Amino acid sequence: MYAQSSGEQAGPLSRPVPWRRRSAPYRAGRRGGGGFHGQVRLGRRGLAIGIDIGGTKVAAGVVDAEGRILSEARRTTPGTDPRAVEQVIVELVEELGRGQRIRSVGIGAAGWMDLDGGTVLFSPHLAWRNEPLRANLQQLLRRPVLLANDADAAAWAEWRFGAGQGEDRLVCITLGTGIGGAMVMDGRVERGRFGVAGEFGHQIIMPGGHRCECGNRGCWEQYASGNALGREARILARSNSPMAQDLLAAVGGRVETITGAW
Ligand SMILES: [Zn+2]
Repeated sequence: MYAQSSGEQAGPLSRPVPWRRRSAPYRAGRRGGGGFHGQVRLGRRGLAIGIDIGGTKVAAGVVDAEGRILSEARRTTPGTDPRAVEQVIVELVEELGRGQRIRSVGIGAAGWMDLDGGTVLFSPHLAWRNEPLRANLQQLLRRPVLLANDADAAAWAEWRFGAGQGEDRLVCITLGTGIGGAMVMDGRVERGRFGVAGEFGHQIIMPGGHRCECGNRGCWEQYASGNALGREARILARSNSPMAQDLLAAVGGRVETITGAW
């Protein structure tokens, strides 16, 4: 995902982020404890709100210390204004937190984080550019906020509570508007030197291929994501292929309304 030697226009992260010590939010400590979970102690009865900010929707849930989801809410992602995204988060926390003992808020965001986990450096699908999201939200929510890349959060949750329990090595691929990815090694989210080691969706699989929102061409997510599925379906529908008859019928002939969202 960094600048290619072919002279391709470099993506916004083509300048390496200065190396810093591995950030605390991603340090797992002893196996089975610490990590994301260990940053804010919920206690036995304390609750947290987890919020997933994707390119299409913002999904939130109240969770307990055992990872159980107690209630959920969601909104459409306001795509172009960072302040509008923050407002949606505030609304969701107010809605879900009513009458609850919410200790902290965890944010999984579809963007590339700095190593401290405080700033979204860049988001291919959202308006964040060097956005100090954690500080902004802590001020608005008046609670501790943990900010992580959405795929990093998903991988760690699968390792801690889901399909990856007990595994030494875990690779997680998240399919949505784009493709996210993350790795857990010995109970620690492995972010690499620049914090974006798991961004498999922006590995180039087709040199000179489709232009990607990250600035490069031919990234995996240009061929296998929700966005890619929608684009291919619209091309097929416009070609009058008999293969697309059912698709055209489903959208009443309005090709532009075909998306890859689910
Ligand atoms: Zn890309």
